[in-house]
Amino acid sequence: MELLNKKNLLLAGPCSVESREQLYDTIKQLTNSKVDFIRAGVWKPRTRPGSFEGLGEKALNWIKEVKEEFGVKFAIEVANSKHVEEALKTGIDLLWIGARTTVNPFAVQNIADALKGLKIPVMVKNPINPDLGLWLGAIERLQKVGLVEIMAIHRGFSSYKPREYRNDPIWNIAIDFKVKCPNIPLICDPSHIAGKRKYLFEIAQEALDLDFDGLMIEVHNNPAVALSDSEQQLTPKAYDALINKLEFRKKGVNNENILEQVKIIRKEIDFLDRDIVNFIEKRMELIMKSAKLRLENNIPILQIDRWEDIEKSRPLWLKNKELDPEMIRLIFKTIKTEAIKMQLDLKKNHKL
Ligand code: PEP
Ligand code: MN
Repeated sequence: MELLNKKNLLLAGPCSVESREQLYDTIKQLTNSKVDFIRAGVWKPRTRPGSFEGLGEKALNWIKEVKEEFGVKFAIEVANSKHVEEALKTGIDLLWIGARTTVNPFAVQNIADALKGLKIPVMVKNPINPDLGLWLGAIERLQKVGLVEIMAIHRGFSSYKPREYRNDPIWNIAIDFKVKCPNIPLICDPSHIAGKRKYLFEIAQEALDLDFDGLMIEVHNNPAVALSDSEQQLTPKAYDALINKLEFRKKGVNNENILEQVKIIRKEIDFLDRDIVNFIEKRMELIMKSAKLRLENNIPILQIDRWEDIEKSRPLWLKNKELDPEMIRLIFKTIKTEAIKMQLDLKKNHKL
């Protein structure tokens, strides 16, 4: 249970176990850095066949050796009941379900069944597609077999659009997750979001600023020759530098005075939000009044020049230069889209 209350949990280690030397050397170099669990891939789910798919049992034997030698705790990915069985035999301390497995309820159930009645902590990565339901569903399957120490990992979402990062973080989904599961610690995996070393710091810091409960970062003794995810892995030295540069939040820092000030500001925000809702309501009433007039006189609902004018003019009204005009444009686009829908309904319902 202690894991559930831990703030700033750190997992670091290679994407995959590639050789005894690679594992030894990486861990040896990490021993002076802040790491709670060594992570390592033993069975690798690869998008295309023919890539390095992990060393399985051989890797597990080396893990057993290094655990004894360095006294470190280990986390590995499992994708089926056989993996669970072998991981438990090896004395692995923490398991995780990968993004390609979370998407498949059959596979998750198969893992859950293998874990029934056990005490081992398990982390669930988000599914590769932005679907909160699948993520929650996987967690519920583990809860249903009696697992208590469950954590979640945010590793971003794949997208067909060209993008800077390998996987889009879509932080909103992580926030929705926190709202739905306030008691499940949420870890960020900036390595699989970034895809490239140079983005790791900004993503990891963003996650910490959003109050994530820890980080999982890929570290390899020689990333240039790594057999998987070469471009995103850090050397142990670079990992150490990254961790020391990041600004971590402390759990339970309760500065009463500050919290009181935040409460007052939030009250003010609540009042403003109420005004915003009232204004939107008022705006919609006016739209309906105008719609009725137009419909009764055979004037079309959509007038494209008006639509364009609203999208263009509203962002220009911003006085605060720090605010993004695109945000204002999108807000009005949403309001306009809803207004068109309401007007079409008005026509249908009143046969105007
Ligand atoms: C991994 O952690 O090495 C991995 C395969 O990640 P994901 O499941 O997030 O793609
Ligand atoms: Mn990887």
